[in-house]
Amino acid sequence: MEKYETHTHDVIVIGAGGAGLRAAIESSAQGASTALICKSLLGKAHTVMAEGGVAAALANVDTKDNWETHFKDTMKGGKMLNNWQMALYHAQEAPERVRELEYWGALFDRTKEGRINQRAFGGHTWKRLAHVGDRTGLEMIRTLQEKGIHSGIDVYMECTITHLIKDGDRETGAFGYWRESGKFVLFKANAIILATGGVGKAYKYTSNSWEYTGDGHSMAYEAGAELIDMEFIQFHPTGMVWPPSVRGILVTEAVRGEGGILTNSEGERFMEKYDPERMELSTRDVVARSIYTEVEQGRGSPHGGAFLDVSHRGADYVKRKLPSMYHQFMEFADIDITKGPMEVFPTTHYVMGGVKVEGDTCSSTVPGLFAAGEVAGGMHGANRLGGNSLSDLLVFGKRAGEGAAAYASGKSHAQVSAELVEGFANELREPFNNTQGENPYTIHQDLQDVMQLYIGVFRTEENIQTGIDKIEVLKERAKTLKIEGSVMFNPGWHLCRDLKSMLIVSEALARCALARKESRGAHSRVDYPESDDEVLGKLNSIVSFKDGAMDVATRPIVEMPEELSKLFTEDK
Ligand SMILES: Cc1cc2nc3c(=O)[nH]c(=O)nc-3n(C[C@H](O)[C@H](O)[C@H](O)COP(=O)(O)OP(=O)(O)OC[C@H]3O[C@@H](n4cnc5c(N)ncnc54)[C@H](O)[C@@H]3O)c2cc1C
Repeated sequence: MEKYETHTHDVIVIGAGGAGLRAAIESSAQGASTALICKSLLGKAHTVMAEGGVAAALANVDTKDNWETHFKDTMKGGKMLNNWQMALYHAQEAPERVRELEYWGALFDRTKEGRINQRAFGGHTWKRLAHVGDRTGLEMIRTLQEKGIHSGIDVYMECTITHLIKDGDRETGAFGYWRESGKFVLFKANAIILATGGVGKAYKYTSNSWEYTGDGHSMAYEAGAELIDMEFIQFHPTGMVWPPSVRGILVTEAVRGEGGILTNSEGERFMEKYDPERMELSTRDVVARSIYTEVEQGRGSPHGGAFLDVSHRGADYVKRKLPSMYHQFMEFADIDITKGPMEVFPTTHYVMGGVKVEGDTCSSTVPGLFAAGEVAGGMHGANRLGGNSLSDLLVFGKRAGEGAAAYASGKSHAQVSAELVEGFANELREPFNNTQGENPYTIHQDLQDVMQLYIGVFRTEENIQTGIDKIEVLKERAKTLKIEGSVMFNPGWHLCRDLKSMLIVSEALARCALARKESRGAHSRVDYPESDDEVLGKLNSIVSFKDGAMDVATRPIVEMPEELSKLFTEDK
């Protein structure tokens, strides 16, 4: 094992998006020696792509806003399946985390009075999203990075972690490779925080980048942690549809937040039929299904989407409030959104399911393993409200950093088994040694088709079962992969391990989708169109690795204390 480059820290954070950076800042502030590892360059995470804003009940624009309303909106958006403790911490702590970001140097858009400006977003009762035009994530990452690099954190970039290491029940490290040289690297640690983001690359059309291959989900699963509510994956209502090369790229909800109107080929403002009260600012699950239905019923735009028009706000306003959208459409589609509509269709965007964690410390069911951000589950229940991810990263990034540092404190470093590590190395090398086998790109493409077709916006028992059968075939095919070339910057080789992760999350998604015989939030069963609030609405799905196979079970949700449930009865 001495042959592998080795680093030792109290806490290692895998993933350097908003959640990872915030966690590392906190862990370091608690005095833990902290490593931050990411498979791309620092600052290239998904968080940087976030456009619309960060949700926090600052009450700067709508003064009636408060944490109670944010909590209720989040729970109702999640169809009451959320971990209420997480939703509570989130609603109560988000304003402080946003102000802290401002204190660290983030420059938000301002109201006339000079306070942080807030915009409307789907499912939020009040104008709640603090924003920087449509480039909020960029400002957030810039600020966290600036803070982070001066906090004594050791950063390891372009380093992919492939396996978690345990000693008995306890996490003791992680193993992976440098993307450029292909050399293996070992990290020893007392606590590990997963902040690896989502799983969107398992689908054909997605707003997510190459980094979202479900690595954290699958490593946690393999290490024995539980995953929760994996059937819930969010299809954002508005992705680009044309030209084909950019299909799936996000059209931010801020377009609707700034007054964008959805129409079909007959010029009808169709949200009147689906949610007359909230219209375009209904929750994402409802808007996505509405667009899908319009297109299915033959009222789609020329390239199979709906029209989304914000041009009535005037060119200056659109360019100021939605600069990235203006450039995105000009450059990719040669369309001027200040003059006419865009064409949009649902795109795979965000996974609500993830590693099951405790709200206070973000600890998983494996001692020493923590998770925060999109890789963690529970916070958003069956459907996430826009803007609630960026606030989630800040609130739970901080909590995970604190929790992991406290756990690691005073512990001596446990043994790392040389045999185990050598096994991981051999597994990773295998595609080079195979004389026969499949190309990982072909299987990845096939998987994306399967997920898109069978585990999509609308689901039926027959479709999901077909999807599962096909995933089983893909798993068999993926057992023998063959790759050419050397270990030096070889994306085909990188995909071999990523593919394994995507197959695990896809199977978990499909199996949970089959088991949930109701429609709830982002999970729409055509054969079970109603929500079953009495039975299934009170059960979380739990995925774990048992006896060499995937086990899917249910567990009763943790009931809310009376003082909180009262908030909802008062509403009725
Ligand atoms: C286009 C777009 C717009 C969005 N707009 C908004 C918005 O306006 N408001 C909002 O609230 N949410 C928005 N979201 C969602 C939000 O941006 C993400 O949910 C959030 O940024 C996830 O943050 P994270 O820290 O969990 O993960 P990320 O920011 O994606 O970071 C993941 C990190 O993990 C690393 N990583 C992954 N696997 C490995 C591995 N095996 N080894 C080492 N490192 C690894 C990556 O390199 C990366 O550093 C948007 C998402 C997209 C795609």
